Amino acid sequence: MSTFIFDCPSCSAKNSTFDVDSIHGIESSHYTDWDLFSICRACSKSMVITAKVKSEIYNSLYVHDLTIAASTKRVREQIIDVVDRDEFHLNRAFESFIYSPVHVGQITPPEYLPEKVKEIFNEATKCLSLNCFNAAGAMFRLCLDIVTKDIVQKNEALAPTRDDKKSIHTRLIWIFKHNLLNNALEDLSRCIKDDGNDGAHDGNLTKTEADDLLDFTYELLEQVYTQPERIRLAQIRRQERRKS
Ligand SMILES: [Zn+2]
Repeated sequence: MSTFIFDCPSCSAKNSTFDVDSIHGIESSHYTDWDLFSICRACSKSMVITAKVKSEIYNSLYVHDLTIAASTKRVREQIIDVVDRDEFHLNRAFESFIYSPVHVGQITPPEYLPEKVKEIFNEATKCLSLNCFNAAGAMFRLCLDIVTKDIVQKNEALAPTRDDKKSIHTRLIWIFKHNLLNNALEDLSRCIKDDGNDGAHDGNLTKTEADDLLDFTYELLEQVYTQPERIRLAQIRRQERRKS
């Protein structure tokens, strides 16, 4: 059984040894990120700790001659082999260990988000899964604030005015006017009300309103980040097939 050293989030033991019972590679990370189902030797509590394969290890396992899918499959198999070894110390091959509690009903974010947007989205859906609707709403709005600012900034050539840039609401009107997003999203965007102040809400967001914000944010993020990256990766695969 392999082990790793980590400060236990349950009993607070510093540098406690954890026994790894099983591991699960996260496919959307191309197996750089792994969930380690582990047991603390100090308190015997089981928990999921997430860790990243060190980049030098990952790069040494990745076979650049293969397609991305074939190479990440090989990475996955080799990591499972390594972890299955008796008394293997995971700290040698993994880093960035974090406690990753499972929240029932928490929604997986769209793929290929920038790290900061992904963190905020995850915080929003975590709040939603705990029925904290106002906190979830504030986090979804923060996501939308970052993304709409980014879209407007990338299209400065279209001369947005100060008023266009003022709030999420005014930015969205401007974005749809210039067809910078699929117009089918416009109807969903009505969940963003013109309250003139993106940080403020009156503290009584309902589940329905929070769910509306989730749906709109999810679809917007997919369109802005996931779809272009999927197309880019498909093009790389296409080029790789032409090479061989
Ligand atoms: Zn413990």
